[in-house]
Amino acid sequence: MFEHSEKNPQDGDGAIGVGIPRDLAFLSSLASSLLDHADLALVYLDRGGLCRHADRRFAALLDRTPQSLIGTPLCGLDHPVARALAGALASLASGALRSVPLDCETTGCDGQRSILSGSVLTHTDASGALLGWLGLLIETGDPDRIADFVARRDPFVATLLNAAVDGIIVSDRTGVIRSINRACCTLFGYEEAELLGQPMTVLMPPPFARDHDKYVSNYVKTERPKIIGIGRDTLGRRKDGAVFPIHLSVGEARMGDRTTYVGIIRDISDRLAAEQRASYLARHDPLTGVLTRTAFLEECEALLANEPVESGAAGFALYTLDVDQFSDINEAFGFHVGDAALKAMVSRVMEVLPPNTYMCRIAADEFAALARVSGMEHAQTLADVLHDRLTASIYADRHWVRLRLSIGAALQDTAAQTLEELNAKAKLALQAVQHDGGNAVCFYTPAMAAAATRRMMLTMHLNHAIERNEMHLVYQPIVDGKTGRVVSAEALLRWTHDTLGPVSPAEFIPVAEESGLIVPLTDWILSTAIGQMMRWNAEDVLPDRVFLNISGQQFLRGNLTARLQELLSGCPELRPHLGLEITEQAAVRDLKVAIKTLGELSALGIQTAIDDFGSGYSSLSYVQQLPVAKLKIDRAFVIDVPTNPKSNALVRAAVGMAHGLGLTTVAEGVETEEQRAFLVSVGCDLLQGYHFGRPMTPEALADMIRRQRTAAAD
Ligand code: C2E
Ligand code: MG
Ligand code: MG
Repeated sequence: MFEHSEKNPQDGDGAIGVGIPRDLAFLSSLASSLLDHADLALVYLDRGGLCRHADRRFAALLDRTPQSLIGTPLCGLDHPVARALAGALASLASGALRSVPLDCETTGCDGQRSILSGSVLTHTDASGALLGWLGLLIETGDPDRIADFVARRDPFVATLLNAAVDGIIVSDRTGVIRSINRACCTLFGYEEAELLGQPMTVLMPPPFARDHDKYVSNYVKTERPKIIGIGRDTLGRRKDGAVFPIHLSVGEARMGDRTTYVGIIRDISDRLAAEQRASYLARHDPLTGVLTRTAFLEECEALLANEPVESGAAGFALYTLDVDQFSDINEAFGFHVGDAALKAMVSRVMEVLPPNTYMCRIAADEFAALARVSGMEHAQTLADVLHDRLTASIYADRHWVRLRLSIGAALQDTAAQTLEELNAKAKLALQAVQHDGGNAVCFYTPAMAAAATRRMMLTMHLNHAIERNEMHLVYQPIVDGKTGRVVSAEALLRWTHDTLGPVSPAEFIPVAEESGLIVPLTDWILSTAIGQMMRWNAEDVLPDRVFLNISGQQFLRGNLTARLQELLSGCPELRPHLGLEITEQAAVRDLKVAIKTLGELSALGIQTAIDDFGSGYSSLSYVQQLPVAKLKIDRAFVIDVPTNPKSNALVRAAVGMAHGLGLTTVAEGVETEEQRAFLVSVGCDLLQGYHFGRPMTPEALADMIRRQRTAAAD
């Protein structure tokens, strides 16, 4: 505590202790001379805040002379030192503290930054009454102290550092940690005190720590920093030893001849995880997790390139899988069930095929899998098991669904080494399966390439078949079993191409369906047949019913009823004479649509018949739900009667059940008198086949009807 004197403070020794109370002059003078050596700056303010003493150093800080400061209210000056002083006095004003630290930064006339650090003490008399304040400040340019000051003392900077999400760490040029913010402590799991004074390398895993040490010693020698300003991804090590990815950017602060480094550290675990996820998604199908097509090609091409196959040796088999009418599942149960079915399907494929099989999703319901096999027999067995497993019931999102699946496969051999070659062959095999009705397995054979070429050529020519008048309809009589009289006729399409000659509908109808050409073709058939019926009607030779074949695709997806209504609008009298045949497979493929369409047709007076009954796998229980009038028993059964007892029993049962449901039966492909006699004996109502007449021109059919009429009249 300073002693107090009531003497005029202005009377003091102006040389050293300008304005200081007289009884303190000696002490002040002594203190000042000592402090001179300690780089101390000294100031005294009376309790009114007026400067009573300022030494040379203090005055120089404010770019003033000591004399010019005496009597001035120092705290009101516009200068960082004066402001810091005012702040300190405000803290002391309550009297609770006797001294407070004072830190501030100044920039001298030479532009050099320096830090003033010290304290302000309260000066009281013996009774404790306030007399004034003494400020003692040390000026320093030491970068460590500056860094420490910047990081810890300046409340604004400290707040900024501690509010920063990134870790901020200040080190000296030898890599010793001088300051560290809160985020950095949290990031590495340390307390601040545990890190201050430690080498930076405690925050790095061993290889990086070694590199850092090398870097630092190199820098000390060469003065060439390699990392400044270049952000880079590296690894950090937590207190518990856990290593994690960080992004580190380093800035360099030069203060005088000293250098300080500021490192900004960001935990990039999340970013890397997101990047990994993005690259995973780019290579994997998000729904099923199998590879994308591009990734599959890359992986498999590399694999096959490294393992060229020797003739007859083990190699790879490529399977292409396509769900038949997958959209039916989506439409019937919703996409969530479709998605769940596809996922279940993928897991079954992976269960069946050997480990290390590559699998990809090519399209919504199309997959490919490349598996290592020991030979053809193994490949074939795998394909069969695959088909069995995938067509068994699948429990998908609370629904049981059954998929129909086509599998085309190709085995690697000396003629098909690359993935491209294998893929082309597996694709051809898949097309062959689909062309034959799907839901089966097929391995590539050379004949498939020729068949595919032929289909392509047919598609090309079919495009122009109508405009080039290459199509015509023939009509096959359908007779009453008992009387043999022509009661109906079936219209059958014929195509005769200039160079290809006649092409069977059994060959070109599937091609037309696959290419979508069936739509204009059916339209042509409908209008041509209706035109013919009008002519027959005019000639009074119109059969009771004329049946037209409607392809499954056209029946299930087309606007058949609307188009028929349009075509028949000018000739409503023909409605009760028109009949449509749809195959059993098309009818049961989508029962809901089939029932609706058949109902609409029946409301128009158009009769419908189920064609080729018995050729599919459906049963009468399906058929009984369909509002149809006729059932056409497939030629495959008729061909064996009456010699094959099994066929006899089947035909007898089919006729019996159809009658039970109120349906009329028609037997197809009757070629012999024995067949006719048997079919009549089991009660089959109508018969069709070469025995009664081959498909013929409309004129020939009209003649036949006329002849029969004349014969009956006779
Ligand atoms: P489908 O509708 O079952 O037609 C009966 C097929 O059996 C016809 O063959 C017919 O000529 C043949 N056939 C009739 N009686 C006998 C017989 O006693 N013995 C033998 N061996 N065959 C007999 P086609 O004309 O070659 O037609 C084959 C298939 O092509 C048809 O089977 C039908 O599914 C389809 N098709 C024919 N014309 C059309 C058409 O206009 N539109 C559609 N969508 N399909 C058609
Ligand atoms: Mg038919
Ligand atoms: Mg038929």
